[in-house]
Amino acid sequence: MTFNINNLVRENVKKLKPYSSARDEFKDFDKDMVFLDANENPYNNGVNRYPDPQQRSLKGELALQRQIKASQVLLGNGSDEVLDLIYRAFCEPKIDNIITLPPTYGMYKVLAETNDVENREVLLTEDYEPDVTEILRVADANSKLLFICSPNNPTGNAFKADKIEILLKSFPGIVVIDEAYIDFSESQTWVSKLSEYPNLIVTQTLSKAYGMAGIRLGICYASEEIISVINKIKPPYNVNELTQKKALDRVLDKESVKNEISSILIERSALYEVLLEVNFVQKIYPSDANFVLVKVDNANLRYQQLLDKGIVIRNRSTQPLCENTLRFTIGTPSENKKLIKVLKEL
Ligand SMILES: *Cc1c(COP(=O)(O)O)cnc(C)c1O
Repeated sequence: MTFNINNLVRENVKKLKPYSSARDEFKDFDKDMVFLDANENPYNNGVNRYPDPQQRSLKGELALQRQIKASQVLLGNGSDEVLDLIYRAFCEPKIDNIITLPPTYGMYKVLAETNDVENREVLLTEDYEPDVTEILRVADANSKLLFICSPNNPTGNAFKADKIEILLKSFPGIVVIDEAYIDFSESQTWVSKLSEYPNLIVTQTLSKAYGMAGIRLGICYASEEIISVINKIKPPYNVNELTQKKALDRVLDKESVKNEISSILIERSALYEVLLEVNFVQKIYPSDANFVLVKVDNANLRYQQLLDKGIVIRNRSTQPLCENTLRFTIGTPSENKKLIKVLKEL
């Protein structure tokens, strides 16, 4: 299939020129210049200047680590903002549709509703894989986006690469692969396939493995062509100065991130072993993420019992294909110890 982005971008976005802010017009931050262009307070307190609207330092480092160009990166106020921008760039309200694969991350549906875009839901198969035939059957010329969350939340598994590959080759719109949990998985990131698939967007976040949910930093990787379209509608100062600084420090500190991920994976295995022995646990789903989905005898009861012992988990029972399931996020070794103790006592 030949890919032409102009068939996918909304008409109003095609016509748009990006808003040019004061800091866009003058980029040479490093020179010793007098900045009297943006009506800022001139007295330095670390954040008196507007932040870099293109987040050059942070994008430069991310691009270096992922071995792509900085022009293939777009940053947002969490991946939730990035996902919203993708909707607004490609989906005509009331006309276009998107496809989601429940049980999955709830924000795709919320964003479809807020953007007034039809959400066509194609359930995962019983083994929590995409139903490729059905997805391609329900897709039509107005299907602009397909959301693939891999590793998937709440099921925890990464989807089979050959299934994703077929979808990338055959889906008529853009395939968004949400890799919020990729750092906990043995499967490879799809970022390395960007040059192969012009219709691919990969989103990642600093909220999970990087331990920075509080700063709100979401990442979008795609072709330069797709990124330049989304850039047109991005609010100029969507990533604040404190976030840019914190994020860069963290991304540069590869050792700490790696060590925390290793510890979480060790704890995940330990929890898995214990869950095998718990009598009310009926099934433990394999996990490529920092959580484990478990089928129990009575999810509402077990959820309440854990809550009474001061442990908050997520009851996922209302999700399709997730009857009587609970989702446990992996905590620190001491949190895990407490959880294990409580589970054994129940
Ligand atoms: C947690 C999570 C995110 C993170 O969103 P942020 O807005 O970046 O915090 C994205 N996608 C999935 C599937 C998640 O579970």
